[in-house]
Amino acid sequence: MTTENGYIVECHNLVKIYKIADLEVVALQGLDLVVNRGELMAIVGASGSGKSTLLNILGGLDHPSAGKIYVDGLDLLKITGSAMDKYRREKVGFVWQQTGRNLVPYLTAEENVELPMVVAGRSPRERRRWAAELLEAVELSDRRHHKLSQLSGGQQQRVAIAVALANRPVLLLADEPTGEVDSATAETIFSTFRRLNKAFNLTTIIVTHDPRIATQVDRVVAIRDGKTSTETIREVSQVEQAVEGADENGEACPPEQVEHVSYREFVVLDSAGRLQVPQEYREMLNIGDRVELDLSEEGIIIRPVEGRGMESEGSTVEQQRQSLYADYQEAPPAKRGFASRLKRALRQRRS
Ligand code: ADP
Ligand code: MG
Repeated sequence: MTTENGYIVECHNLVKIYKIADLEVVALQGLDLVVNRGELMAIVGASGSGKSTLLNILGGLDHPSAGKIYVDGLDLLKITGSAMDKYRREKVGFVWQQTGRNLVPYLTAEENVELPMVVAGRSPRERRRWAAELLEAVELSDRRHHKLSQLSGGQQQRVAIAVALANRPVLLLADEPTGEVDSATAETIFSTFRRLNKAFNLTTIIVTHDPRIATQVDRVVAIRDGKTSTETIREVSQVEQAVEGADENGEACPPEQVEHVSYREFVVLDSAGRLQVPQEYREMLNIGDRVELDLSEEGIIIRPVEGRGMESEGSTVEQQRQSLYADYQEAPPAKRGFASRLKRALRQRRS
């Protein structure tokens, strides 16, 4: 079952507030995200930006404070109790950074994969067959009788991925799955996700701060301060490439088709039309709390406003406005434009 729009995951204006004593932490502040069925995507962002909070909510491990969230047609704000237990057990698979959280150390790889199926009441025959298929899919058939302690960190993480798929979830969630392994091992883990995504058309969301992820997935969504901010889409196209030399008849070889991969970065607009202007752009142009929008043939130009620059240390916006204005008055008329403001902003940054 899918939601009306056909997405497997839909989050609208999702809010999560943690309360500790009198302190409120807004971990998600109106986050929008949709995920297509069969998509392999990643979520990146600085520590504390709300990635794990989002993943835990998607996994049914935590409850949002407000907003809307649907997974596979289920309204996660409405379901509770045994329906939520069923959701966690059957709809989603979860892989954590610490493999220990997914696995039982004294069981073999195969027994670990079978365990969730035992809990779900599957027959021994079905368990054996599906465990074998999953261990083959993560390329660990030859290690199925090994105890966890006899496997490397990367192999354990691949067992953890197989365990997460034991009850045939429609959505696989992984929180920093390569956080504790070296880069070569990370590569094998990412390629495992890719293979499973292809083999089972498995929708997969990987949270990571590993920048190499962009080359491994179809789409990377960046979260900043509890909201999605940018999105990078990987586009694969076929291009013609000239082939040197001649064939056996002395004719020039025809060009061959090769794959060309490119990345396009987009800024996300939320349903109310808000967007995040990247901090470095704001700093460079000394953009503070107001801008001017100009319509042009090319699109919309966001212009800094004189006197509404960033508050620098030790001076208020008003003081800064006055000092910027003084600078402006001193500048020769020709230099009073955009370029001079830009240069001044850069000078201020350097000093
Ligand atoms: P990330 O995974 O991107 O590092 P988190 O989702 O873990 O970020 O955290 C987002 C914010 O929410 C942080 O400020 C964090 O301190 C806070 N937070 C996360 N979990 C809890 C919790 N259980 N109780 C209180 N605050 C929390
Ligand atoms: Mg986290």
